[in-house]
Amino acid sequence: MEIHEYQAKELLRQKGVVCPPFFVAHSVEEVEKLIRQHNLTDCVVKVQIHAGGRGKAGGVKRAKSPEEILAIAKELFGKKIINEQTGPAGLTATTLMLTSPVAIVRECYLASAIDRGSASCLLLASKAGGVDVERAKEGGGMLREKISISTPLTAAQFDRIAAFLGFEGTLRDECRTMLTGIREAFFTLDATLVEINPLAVTEDGHLIAIDAKVTIDDDALFRHPDLAALEDPTQRPPVEYQAKKKGLAYVKLDGTIACMVNGAGLAMATIDLITEKGGEAANFLDVGGVSSPERITDAFDLLFTNNGSKVYFINIFGSNVSCAVIAEAIKKAIMKRGDHTTFVIRLEGYGREEARLILKRSGFRIIFVDTFDEGAEKAASLAKGAL
Ligand code: GDP
Ligand code: MN
Repeated sequence: MEIHEYQAKELLRQKGVVCPPFFVAHSVEEVEKLIRQHNLTDCVVKVQIHAGGRGKAGGVKRAKSPEEILAIAKELFGKKIINEQTGPAGLTATTLMLTSPVAIVRECYLASAIDRGSASCLLLASKAGGVDVERAKEGGGMLREKISISTPLTAAQFDRIAAFLGFEGTLRDECRTMLTGIREAFFTLDATLVEINPLAVTEDGHLIAIDAKVTIDDDALFRHPDLAALEDPTQRPPVEYQAKKKGLAYVKLDGTIACMVNGAGLAMATIDLITEKGGEAANFLDVGGVSSPERITDAFDLLFTNNGSKVYFINIFGSNVSCAVIAEAIKKAIMKRGDHTTFVIRLEGYGREEARLILKRSGFRIIFVDTFDEGAEKAASLAKGAL
């Protein structure tokens, strides 16, 4: 799960990571109020979106008077930021951060991440940071130190990182505090990424986190209800957000065959097989292992809002719930929809025969298939108008 920069900074601060002071606003009125209350004159205004590269995309702006702050806030609220990280649809800022400008003399990079290749957690440091991280990664190279949840950072690790970044004296001590904080945050928050870019050396010789990114492991959210509550629905496509709220895993795709499947593996295999048969899936939808009738109804509501779909391919393996129960839910949904000529259904496993009877007796002109292969084939043909 992604969170905003301001949320990441609040969490990192609690672990001792030093960040410039900031305020958060959700409307122009709130910005006006902050300017009045705190006599703001000089600040950096930053859009809060779930993507980086904001600086280059015009989402980070320096203001030098209350009027400028207000003018920039008016421009940035609702502004759509589009770059490689946001995807072609872009992301719109509904939250702004107003932060104290920092006089920077050097920009570096510090992060903690999971490295699947070596099956370990790492601290990463680079001498070069800021908006051109890619170049930075090539340039000075990236120092990688393995870290573990059970052992704190060693003195040797602190020394290696500080020396690599060229920090001595105060900077060296402050770097140690930063690294300890990043490691702490990474493990206690169940993060998959904690990134500070840039980590700035200030004109007066201190270290400060100018930007922060924290990604939380979705599979660990159940033990962090406080973090789960940080979710900002404005940063997700509405339909995906609706799906998530209902506990369904849904991703919209560009094809014409809407799929409803239980199990992520089966869902992916379904998309692959449809593609092999010359069709195109309209979505990935995993209704999960425990497919209650309510979940099937929710899932249909979701699929019916996806207007590009011509065919509905239901590929469900009944295990916890009988196929008959699923068939009843399907029947209800089809009745609600009216048109019943666009459904290809495969219900396999427990209660299969009863399910077939239920759908047969309904009188709908649906295609009930026996095998996965046949289902994908029929769905693809139906989408092409060849059935
Ligand atoms: P990003 O583009 O989304 O990664 O947003 P950042 O928060 O990293 O801001 C982009 C760039 O703006 C940073 O890499 C800095 O170079 C610059 N920047 C942001 N805040 C300040 C500041 O307070 N002072 C200075 N001098 N530069 C800043
Ligand atoms: Mn940044």
